Amino acid sequence: MTPQPDPQLGAAVSAADRAHVFHSWSAQELIAPLAVAGAEGSYFWDYEGNRYLDFTSGLVYTNIGYQHPKVVAAIQEQAATMTTFAPAFALEARSEAARLIAERTPGDLDKIFFTNGGAEAVENATRMARLHTGRPKVLSAYRSYHGGTAAAINLTGDPRRWPSDSGSAGVVRFWAPFLYRSPFHSENEAQECERALTHLEDTISFEGPATIAAIILETIPGTAGIMPPPPGYLAGVRELCDRYGIVLVLDEVMAGFGRTGKWFAVDHYDGVVPDLLTFAKGVNSGYVPLGGVAISGAIAETFARRPYPGGLTYSGHPLACAAAVATINVMAAEGVVEHAARLGEDVIGPGLRELAARHPSVGEVRGVGMFWALELVRDQETREPLVPYNPSGEANAPMAAFAAAAKANGLWPFVNMNRTHVVPPCNISEPDAKAGLAALDTALDAADAHI
Ligand code: PMP
Repeated sequence: MTPQPDPQLGAAVSAADRAHVFHSWSAQELIAPLAVAGAEGSYFWDYEGNRYLDFTSGLVYTNIGYQHPKVVAAIQEQAATMTTFAPAFALEARSEAARLIAERTPGDLDKIFFTNGGAEAVENATRMARLHTGRPKVLSAYRSYHGGTAAAINLTGDPRRWPSDSGSAGVVRFWAPFLYRSPFHSENEAQECERALTHLEDTISFEGPATIAAIILETIPGTAGIMPPPPGYLAGVRELCDRYGIVLVLDEVMAGFGRTGKWFAVDHYDGVVPDLLTFAKGVNSGYVPLGGVAISGAIAETFARRPYPGGLTYSGHPLACAAAVATINVMAAEGVVEHAARLGEDVIGPGLRELAARHPSVGEVRGVGMFWALELVRDQETREPLVPYNPSGEANAPMAAFAAAAKANGLWPFVNMNRTHVVPPCNISEPDAKAGLAALDTALDAADAHI
């Protein structure tokens, strides 16, 4: 499947990239993006003939891998019949995508507002919450990522927001539970859960409940470190929202559509239903940009006879919606969600724990399904991170050595600060998952050497 290497073309692609492409989140002259020639399933390759197993799923979105033939065919068919049409019309691909999504979201989240990605979904969800409640503020967690646009970056807790933070966007931040680096100095999950809920209720009380439109949380925070909340936490947040008339927004842009071994991460937390749920990425495996907000009956009712003041030129783009319909149908027909759950429980989880037992640089293994993080440390007792906290994201020797060793063994790893996230396609084969774990083993030797 890998075509003939073509280093000359690769050099031309790289030269044009260096000359004209301005890359995200980067110091332009300090990066050297790999020129990628092609991709299929869980693999991609460069122009030199090197092939890599993708343990990143792109940016955690190719939940069914690259170039799934059924999704590619659906996009081609849609392009041949109706490539584009404006949002204010009823279209087969759009209404079918909305129906399939609504069928899978929990509770009465039965209306879908389409966007082009995750940040726009977050922008619109919080706008809906403010208009629905008539209140100005939104509470968000420090360890979170909600997107790179104006409101979404303000809602983000991750320090990447610092250079862009307006400081006055009606956002109040709080600490969500994270036992390994507990903001509450808790000793166990039950204590962490209780203290986090008390802290959140105190925050609500002192901010003034009648000023708070929404609480936004990633169901399982992703970018900030893949931290499944303790049992009872989300149910507790739901209760606080009900008590104070606050809209609960669960951001499932990264955790949704099979990533955690359920259609949505919230399905792991019995009975919790948000008022708004944001999605993107896995909805169509990122083949064409698409995101959206799933809306509860009560919030949809607010805009039944009063216009919703928001919209996007490409909302519900037919190509993106056709890709979503095909992706969801592929996931259902091929049992991708169940596969992710089983492989996570039987192969990836145990495999990572086994690596942790042998490598002194692994501080903690966390995750579920195809959504895992290894936290690398200098000292397992003190939990001192392997590299100092550096929100600018500049290269650092230990993690660079880890990544280089992985790549030398044919594995493309996800590296963020002192962590590697193990987030392969949800339909990765068992032999490929095992090969990736073996490459991680060698890469962790390189990390160990930096302790
Ligand atoms: N929310 C979450 C939880 C995310 O992980 C991301 C992207 N990583 C976003 C929002 C923003 O999505 P996008 O980059 O598609 O705007």
